[in-house]
Amino acid sequence: MYLNYGRHEVNDDDVDAVVAVLRSSALTQGNCVPLFEIAVCDIVGAKHGLAMNSATAALHAACLALGLRPGDIVWTVPNTFVASANCALMCGADVDFVDIDDHTFNMCLDQLEDKLISAAKTNRLPKIVIPVDFAGLPADLKRISDLRERYGFKVIEDASHSIGSSIFSMKTGSCEWSDITVFSFHPVKIIAAGEGGMALTNCPSIAKSLRLLRSHGITKEFNDYEVKLSRDWYYEQVLLGYNYRMSDIHASLGLSQLSRLSKNVSERNRLAEIYTDKLSSLPLKFQQIPEGFRSSYHLYVVAPNDTLQISDAEKIFDRFRDAQIQAARHYYPVHLQPFFRRLGFREGYCPVAERHGNTSITLPLFPTLNHNEQEKVVDVLYRYFGK
Ligand SMILES: *Cc1c(COP(=O)(O)O)cnc(C)c1O
Repeated sequence: MYLNYGRHEVNDDDVDAVVAVLRSSALTQGNCVPLFEIAVCDIVGAKHGLAMNSATAALHAACLALGLRPGDIVWTVPNTFVASANCALMCGADVDFVDIDDHTFNMCLDQLEDKLISAAKTNRLPKIVIPVDFAGLPADLKRISDLRERYGFKVIEDASHSIGSSIFSMKTGSCEWSDITVFSFHPVKIIAAGEGGMALTNCPSIAKSLRLLRSHGITKEFNDYEVKLSRDWYYEQVLLGYNYRMSDIHASLGLSQLSRLSKNVSERNRLAEIYTDKLSSLPLKFQQIPEGFRSSYHLYVVAPNDTLQISDAEKIFDRFRDAQIQAARHYYPVHLQPFFRRLGFREGYCPVAERHGNTSITLPLFPTLNHNEQEKVVDVLYRYFGK
């Protein structure tokens, strides 16, 4: 069997939970969605959680809830999935990129600070900065938050990879240092809902905006009505929203999977440690986990170190393919996608992310990865390096 880099796990409890919804009277807009939201908030320590039908929807709604408009600028990293940048463009705003750090593969905060200093001089400060918790390692939100105070931008943490991670035991999603944090429940991520995402916040007015944006801008709250009509059939549309709702079918799967979150993340950490132990003698570069940070290890990423050529990464990919193992690349830099090139971005703009994007190799990692499978992966690398 082909060994993929990620594999979701659905057990009998998950199946039963979904079937129960299928046999119920509410496939959507029932009580499973609020139960899922409350369960996620309880685990991560956030005040409000708004489930949506993808993290992409949640990122778009998050940008709108923070007032992003044409003429505004959003900064994110190139080492991410395209949605982290697209959410800005969906609002008619501009997007720009901050290079990554060569050790954490997350946003380089020295670069961020330098770029803020220049932007302040030309009056082109970002309205929103979107750090991404790459591979499950939280970006240094605390330091980003200090810069947020100084330069007056908002922070949306793209935590699509990182439910179950923490910084000094402050859980990702607590929104301690972000205005909004977004999770993804795509099956390749840590918790699967089929498709799904969630926007978390501690701010009641942001939560209210997110709720409206998620469902056509419609309210059924009498207190929010412009026309005070107290009739059962009445509702008001107060702004332009979308149908970004999660169904109860999806929420039931997410809720059932959530009960295994801590086991799932512990297992990922255990397997990651084995990789690190076995591979540390090879000429590879590893993602460095700073003191006090805990990664959820959505991905385990290595790259040939600087003593090797970029072509080594391609040769290693071929070896994996020959061994029926799917290695993946996270990420080919967003700013070099054809669509973003048309906006004017070119090679050389974010050199660290570009080297990473030409050399990184994502090894198979998921909770049910067994000993033999992991040995097979390690073996391909040992043989490549003649060990
Ligand atoms: C997967 C992913 C998204 C989008 O998630 P969806 O739920 O598929 O919309 C956004 N950002 C990052 C970093 C991702 O990995």
